[in-house]
Amino acid sequence: SLSGDVPLRVENLRKTFGGIVAVDDASFAVEAGSLTGLIGPNGAGKSTTFNCITGAHTPDSGTVTFQGEDITGRRPDQIATEGLVRTFQIARELEEMTVLENLMLAPQGQIGEQLWRSVTPGARVEVIEQERELRERVWETVDFFEIDHIAHDEAGTLSGGQRKLLEMARAMMTEPDMLLLDEPLAGVNPTLEEKLLERIHDLREQGYTFLLVEHDMDVIMENCEHVIVMHQGSVLAEGEPSMVKNNDRVIEAYLGE
Ligand code: ADP
Ligand code: MG
Repeated sequence: SLSGDVPLRVENLRKTFGGIVAVDDASFAVEAGSLTGLIGPNGAGKSTTFNCITGAHTPDSGTVTFQGEDITGRRPDQIATEGLVRTFQIARELEEMTVLENLMLAPQGQIGEQLWRSVTPGARVEVIEQERELRERVWETVDFFEIDHIAHDEAGTLSGGQRKLLEMARAMMTEPDMLLLDEPLAGVNPTLEEKLLERIHDLREQGYTFLLVEHDMDVIMENCEHVIVMHQGSVLAEGEPSMVKNNDRVIEAYLGE
């Protein structure tokens, strides 16, 4: 279900670590169906903001609202169940599993779906049906991300870019409304970078909302229609790429790195 004009709203977010103020009164919104970029120099507070949104961190103060619901301080799996899903690096124990197995297990791993519980005889038909649907969805996802040729390879053997494709494919298996990607293109070769960006644009055209967190300003400027710039924990500038790119304070913040 894709609904609401502003699926994600962050208001007056603050997060400290001891004496360090990582996020300092940050506020911004992400429009439904948009491809929004969150950029900023190293240490700007991007990842901390990302972690406060996805439930990995509890903010000191401020609120995170998703599709009209206050999700501040909720557990990551609860937030994922609401349809706000982040990508995860492939966990060590999943590296020995194939791409297909990784995708089969993705809904359960990320949102705690109970597909493999012990069942009463009467419920078996239903479980078999669910598994059939899951397999179908896995193959659709494999086709969409063009990873069919590596479907039976162990995740641990994949290249950096192939891993990122698998990470995004795993996130899509949970049937999200909105995807949060932290540095999705780090360590990806140019060919696969192109492929990843194409998939993001395809999904966006289908109605999914994206928040891309990136250090690399160029990628965001070329691909996002709305850009939020963080610096020293706060939102420094926000708007269309062409506006943000020429903002003196943004240029200064990046030069000061
Ligand atoms: P970015 O992702 O923009 O590079 P971060 O959100 O990772 O920035 O970090 C913002 C600030 O918070 C930095 O000064 C960083 O050192 C600090 N920080 C981030 N996480 C922690 C943590 N777990 N403990 C202490 N300081 C942290
Ligand atoms: Mg970061």
